[in-house]
Amino acid sequence: MNDRPMSYLLTPGPLTTSARTREAMLRDWGSRDPDFIALTARVRKRLCALANAEATHTAVLLQGSGTYALDATVQTLVPKDGKLLVLVNGAYGRRMVEIARRIGRDVAFLEFAEDAPADPDITAAYLKSDPAVTHVAVVHCETTSGILNPIEAIGDAVARAGRKYFIDAMSSFGAISIDARKLTFEAMMAASGKCLEGVPGMSFVLANKAALAAAGGNALSISLDLTAQWQGFEKDGQWRFTPPTQVLAALDCAMDQLDEEGGVDARGARYARNCRVLREGMARLGFRSILFDNLQAPIIVTFHRPPGLEYETFGAALKERGFVIYPGKLTKLDTFRIGCIGAIDAKVMSAAVDAVAQTMREMKISL
Ligand SMILES: *Cc1c(COP(=O)(O)O)cnc(C)c1O
Repeated sequence: MNDRPMSYLLTPGPLTTSARTREAMLRDWGSRDPDFIALTARVRKRLCALANAEATHTAVLLQGSGTYALDATVQTLVPKDGKLLVLVNGAYGRRMVEIARRIGRDVAFLEFAEDAPADPDITAAYLKSDPAVTHVAVVHCETTSGILNPIEAIGDAVARAGRKYFIDAMSSFGAISIDARKLTFEAMMAASGKCLEGVPGMSFVLANKAALAAAGGNALSISLDLTAQWQGFEKDGQWRFTPPTQVLAALDCAMDQLDEEGGVDARGARYARNCRVLREGMARLGFRSILFDNLQAPIIVTFHRPPGLEYETFGAALKERGFVIYPGKLTKLDTFRIGCIGAIDAKVMSAAVDAVAQTMREMKISL
């Protein structure tokens, strides 16, 4: 079977999946089918194992995209009299602030420049000054810019201050290793359709079991009650509400391929090669990326958009050549983004750079 998709999605989810992952969806499952119940249990176990979290955490699966997991985590695990501190250096950090506000949880945030990492020392100083804060949230790879935040150093500061820690690992889980035996966190949120290379539609939280057990009654909505969702799985192995059956089957198959590839480190190494080929190729064409090498996560690269390069035309011409890219999301700079993740290798990245070169010629732009 021809594995080449109609177009490569160089975007941070949905992303390019393998033919094998898509084929895993070619059947129906009933939600009470013992095979499906076993599939659910297997995926939950595998997700915990990826972070060495089996002893301390449980994987709570949720219908819906990644934001649903963020929303469920904040409303279930931050108690009504708790306070959340969010470290913000992009749109996804801002989203967590908005989630807390909307449900009426007390929230503060520390804002860093979008091209600078969140700072552990500033976080520690803030925690000293605000004893009301019970939980701190940070985004691992801030997909807005592609920057990697130092979750270990921030985790140390949070633990020293005796607060609980949430990590939005949406765009890093599966590609950058996170070890629950070395890094203490109450919850880590991610989704099916990013670095695990499944299809979109399901998110999950690796939540500390004791915290989850103590959080009953906190959630403001039935569908986003993480404790109830967990208790549902524990009671009879079933989902409380209609499960995304094909999405789950695709994720299980995608995780087989992650194992075959050599696990999280091997996948991270492939993405790092993709990222290098992309950055070097684009630099040869005269494009500048916004981040220094040492801050760049191998997930998505943000480039300055040169004057005269109209995004709509540029994006449409690349799509004609088989590559879908993403507009920029930074508040202060004109940019566009190209992702390095998904079932793609360095050859695909170099073809993408060639397509950019052809498009530039066609648009009569040289840098
Ligand atoms: C993708 C992503 C999310 C979730 O976004 P959805 O559109 O709800 O899937 C959250 N945080 C980060 C860092 C992400 O990259």
